[in-house]
Amino acid sequence: LQPYRISTGSEVDLANVSSDDQLQFDGGKRDAKRYLKELAAEIAELQDRLHAAKKHRVLIVLQGMDTAGKDSTIRDIFNRTNPLGLDTVSFAKPSDEELAHDYLWRIHEHAPMLGGISIFNRSHYEDVVVVRVKKLVPEQVWQRRYYHIRAFEQMLADEGTIILKFFLHISKDEQRDRLQERIDIEEKHWKLAEADFTERRFWDDYQAAWGQAISETSTDQAPWYVVPSNRRWYRKVVIAEIIRDSLKALGSEYPSPSFDPTGMLLT
Ligand code: AMP
Ligand code: MG
Repeated sequence: LQPYRISTGSEVDLANVSSDDQLQFDGGKRDAKRYLKELAAEIAELQDRLHAAKKHRVLIVLQGMDTAGKDSTIRDIFNRTNPLGLDTVSFAKPSDEELAHDYLWRIHEHAPMLGGISIFNRSHYEDVVVVRVKKLVPEQVWQRRYYHIRAFEQMLADEGTIILKFFLHISKDEQRDRLQERIDIEEKHWKLAEADFTERRFWDDYQAAWGQAISETSTDQAPWYVVPSNRRWYRKVVIAEIIRDSLKALGSEYPSPSFDPTGMLLT
């Protein structure tokens, strides 16, 4: 899975990165679905240990173009995990109150606590991408944010946070098919926003902004993974496996109790 990890300092041009690749899993959709269930169960077990050990914090950032599959990735990877151990946050357009503060204000309060996992569905990366494409702030303002973001994430990592960032990479054709599906199926209409159609016109600008954001902020402490996401099953298995491996690497153990409960008498 290392092939999808962006090494520090490398230049990412998303136009040259495959969104179709499926080389890291030998098997088809059915095998993947079965395997994903196993991974979700393992992640649930590892989260339980993480919570009990209270030694680390885990932050997972999900980004991607509209319809890339951020929501269903969260649903299918964490559907066995105890909700008490998760803080899942969607960052949409900032409110007036949020806009009145600095852009990391609304983000920082959701950074994970000891033993916890925070999942960001969109994140502070919107503040160097959508604001750039839609010209919501001047260039000098978003340019210097790469530096802030690296420093912010470094601080979180120094304080014991494991950070994993995933860009769900789909092609423009794949997005067309998914939007068309939402148009064709009435039960999916609610998922459509007018913005999905207007933002699609800025596809190339978004790809350029994402390429630079990823290049500028993939670090050893907070790496980006660009995950081929045209196949839904493949994207989920790849992300689940990286999360499983990262949690496993923490080696969280259940702590021994502060007293010996064997032989305790209950009255
Ligand atoms: P959705 O995830 O489909 O509910 O859409 C959320 C929308 O909020 C997307 O269009 C994002 O680009 C937008 N959004 C998220 N964060 C920001 C931000 N910091 N500034 C402006 N728009 C944002
Ligand atoms: Mg949307």
